[in-house]
Amino acid sequence: MDYLSTKYLRSRKIPSTACSGCGLGQCHKALVKAIDEVGFGINDIIWGTSIGCAGRQTYATWKGDSFAGTHGRVYAIARGLRLALPPEKKLVLSVGDGDAFGIGFNHLLHAVRTNTQMTVMVCDNLGYQSTGGQYGWTTPEGVVTDSSPYGMFEPNWVQSGRDVLAILREAGATFLARHVSMDGAVLVGTLKKALQNNGFSLVHVVYPCTTNFANTALGTRKPVTIFKWIKDRSAPLGKEKEDTLWRTGVYHDASNSRPEFSQLMREKVAEIHGRHEREGTD
Ligand code: SF4
Repeated sequence: MDYLSTKYLRSRKIPSTACSGCGLGQCHKALVKAIDEVGFGINDIIWGTSIGCAGRQTYATWKGDSFAGTHGRVYAIARGLRLALPPEKKLVLSVGDGDAFGIGFNHLLHAVRTNTQMTVMVCDNLGYQSTGGQYGWTTPEGVVTDSSPYGMFEPNWVQSGRDVLAILREAGATFLARHVSMDGAVLVGTLKKALQNNGFSLVHVVYPCTTNFANTALGTRKPVTIFKWIKDRSAPLGKEKEDTLWRTGVYHDASNSRPEFSQLMREKVAEIHGRHEREGTD
C-alpha cells in the first residue's frame, strides 16, 4: 500500500476489487490525492457510492463515514444527508455512468437544480461492465458490445451534438469537468477545484475496462491497447481533433457563485423562526 492508501483507505479493501488492469483505480487514487492536497482529513469527508464496478470498489473503502444507495438513488440520499450534516462536513460521491447518466439522472438533476453541496466523480467505463458488458448511455457510436453485436446504434450522451454536461450546466451545476483516467496531475487539479466548490460539482472521468469493453470492442483484454484507445480519443479543450471523443478539462466553473441548498434552507428556517418570535406566533 502506498502512503495515501494507508492514510485514507481501509486495509481490507486493498488491493481493490477491480479486475487486473482496470483503470478504475486511477480515478479513485486521483480523488484521494485531491482530498489530501486540499487538506481535508478523514473526518471531514462523508463518502457515498452506488452500484456497479465503481460502487463495488469504493463501498466502505474510505476510512471515515461512508454510505451507499441503490442504483441511481444515492443523490437523493446525499441531499437528505446534506441537510442533516453540519456544513463543514463535505459529501463526496464516486458513481458509475449508468448510475449518474441513466437510472439516477432524474435524482442527479434535482441535486444540480438545488446546488446541493456534493462532489460527484462519475467513473465512466462506457457501459454496463459489472453485468457483463452491455452498452449504456456513454458507449461510443458503432462500438461492439455484448448487447450491440452489430455496433452501438443508439444515440448516446456524448456524441452527435449532445453533451450531458451541457444539460447539467443548463440545470444549474456550478462546477463541471471531463477527463480520462490517465490525465494524472491534471485530473487531480480539476478534482481539487471541484472539492472547493460549496455547491454541486461533477467530474466525468472515462476509464478503461479491460475485462468486458476492451474484449468486445477491441478484441483484446490487453490493458495497453484499451488505455491507448481511450487516450488517443481524448484531447484538452481547444486542442481537439476531428476524431476526438472526449474533450478534457473544466467545462464550467461558477464555484461559490450561488447559495448552497442546505445553507439556503438554514437561513430560511432561521428567518421564519425570527418572524414568529417577533410576532409572538408559533
Ligand atoms: S468489469 Fe471492467 S470496469 Fe469493471 S472492474 Fe472489471 S475491468 Fe474494471
